[in-house]
Amino acid sequence: MNIILLGPPGAGKGTQAKRLVEERGMTQLSTGDMLREARTSGTEMGKRVAEVMDRGDLVTDEIVIGLIEEKLAGPQGGGFIFDGFPRTLAQADALGALLEAHDQVLDVAIEMQVNDDVLVERIVGRAEEARAAGQPVRADDNEESLRVRLLAYYKQTAPLIGYYHAKGLLQVVDGLGEIDAVAADIKAVLG
Ligand code: AMP
Repeated sequence: MNIILLGPPGAGKGTQAKRLVEERGMTQLSTGDMLREARTSGTEMGKRVAEVMDRGDLVTDEIVIGLIEEKLAGPQGGGFIFDGFPRTLAQADALGALLEAHDQVLDVAIEMQVNDDVLVERIVGRAEEARAAGQPVRADDNEESLRVRLLAYYKQTAPLIGYYHAKGLLQVVDGLGEIDAVAADIKAVLG
């Protein structure tokens, strides 16, 4: 089964993806994680995207599509969870074509619905928790970048809700509840 977790920053996509990896042996493909890894390892691409990411804007379609293309060529056990990808209509089209080229289908796009106040609380909370634990804080987990990230979501990513609805692939879950409750709703969608 291949699924997309769709939702604004702070909706809980990463948290739920990790649950699905543990419980169903699926493979999480988070373009955000891949880009952060590229930065940490100091690759040329990592250096190029750093400023864009810290500002909260989207990096180019070409870069993230390339990252996903590499992963789709790798091991596919348990199905893929696309987390934070696609984020634009061009990425959604590219994903469809890549899956087809690998004789795969997309089974469902799950929209995790939350409200903006909760997102701000969660992201600020995530930064505070990391700081308290002496862990590195994401450079884009601050209020200014969050505003840019939210705008990018509404302008560039939210149209994917209509896109997948039109394809008959959209399912909606309430992302406001406790982690376990959201996980149960996702489980019910996946059957
Ligand atoms: P995330 O961890 O998913 O919140 O992603 C962190 C940042 O990485 C985003 O704010 C973007 O700058 C960049 N990014 C991650 N995934 C994508 C994507 N699919 N398209 C464009 N930029 C992305």
